[in-house]
Amino acid sequence: MNEVVRYTYRLRPGGTAEEALLAEWGRCRWLWNEAVHQQKSGRKPTFARLGKLLTEARAKLPWLRDGSQVAQQQTLRDYAQSLDHSFKVKGRGRPSAKSRKTSLPSLQYTTRGFSIRDGRLALPRGLTIPVVWSRELPSPPTSVRVYRDSLGHWYASFVVRREIQVHPSGHGGIGIDWGVSTTATATDPTFDLPHSGHRRRCAAELARAQRKMARRHRKGRAQSRGYAQAKREAARLLKKAARQTVHSSRVWAKRVVDRHDLIAVEDFEPLFLAKSTMARKAADAAVGAVKRELVQRAVRAGRKVVMVRPAYTTMTCSSCFARAKQRLELHERDFRCESCGFRDDRDRNAARVILAVAERGHVSVEDVRQSDSPPSGAVSVAIRAGDLLAVRQQSR
Ligand SMILES: [Zn+2]
Repeated sequence: MNEVVRYTYRLRPGGTAEEALLAEWGRCRWLWNEAVHQQKSGRKPTFARLGKLLTEARAKLPWLRDGSQVAQQQTLRDYAQSLDHSFKVKGRGRPSAKSRKTSLPSLQYTTRGFSIRDGRLALPRGLTIPVVWSRELPSPPTSVRVYRDSLGHWYASFVVRREIQVHPSGHGGIGIDWGVSTTATATDPTFDLPHSGHRRRCAAELARAQRKMARRHRKGRAQSRGYAQAKREAARLLKKAARQTVHSSRVWAKRVVDRHDLIAVEDFEPLFLAKSTMARKAADAAVGAVKRELVQRAVRAGRKVVMVRPAYTTMTCSSCFARAKQRLELHERDFRCESCGFRDDRDRNAARVILAVAERGHVSVEDVRQSDSPPSGAVSVAIRAGDLLAVRQQSR
């Protein structure tokens, strides 16, 4: 069995190659904007009509003919898809014009438009670009998207088929509680995910770059080159930290999914309140990303995933299910049950409550308290595989 996935690599185009890529993007962007213009003038641009637009424009404009036909066709295909999507999804705006200053270059090529020769990505008109092959492609790619990010780095994202990876069969369940200082606290401490240390290591460097930015900032006037440099440096450090966070969360999620067949997670929704601190916002964002990674992986591996509502999870005893009368203050790290005397770390207790709720076939502490039925008799409301995403999309 095969699955279709993307493999992304860094590109290292020289000055000439970068110029050629940007020129290609300029032509594709012009076409996109031309299609937007047509749509505004009332004619609904079907794909056939867009094809005609391309043929006519290429016949009329020599500078457009200089570009790759494949990339231009793909731009219009993207446009048609985006338009289609905007009709299907409520509240989504129609595709708008891409401005030269704010849009990021992105070019798509099918097999007619690219190949891999001598370790380089070969594009139409003799353009070849060195690729940093950080891992091996599992199969010959069927298409590639060449794009530049906000830092000016170029990437090639290949669409490839690969064998579906067999997941070892997991044993038992795991409960996960999200937090600030420890991103994920698990029922089993060996599966805890600490708040990424590299961000802390990066923080000093980042603070230095940001101070430099502040020093060089000129109020109400055009910014200096030194300021732009400092800004770029800060952006680079932020991106680096983000990449490392993504990496460690992937490694962690794989380990959790490989060893368990029931995964119960606190259904955490970040609020991004204006009054919350920057640290809190960063931690919330980290939790959001890790949770998404874990759930996607677990669903793909066919694990049972239960999203448990966070209400009362920190106030309930994981041993006897009695609820504390008062909410624990944030600084109180220990949970102590008044009914049975059970003591544990507060986050660990919450993780155990989350798992216990899921094992009883429920999605919230309240359900367990109200049903009062033994675990075996409980109605299973756990959600499997594809259902989970479907349910969550509906509820949105
Ligand atoms: Zn208790």
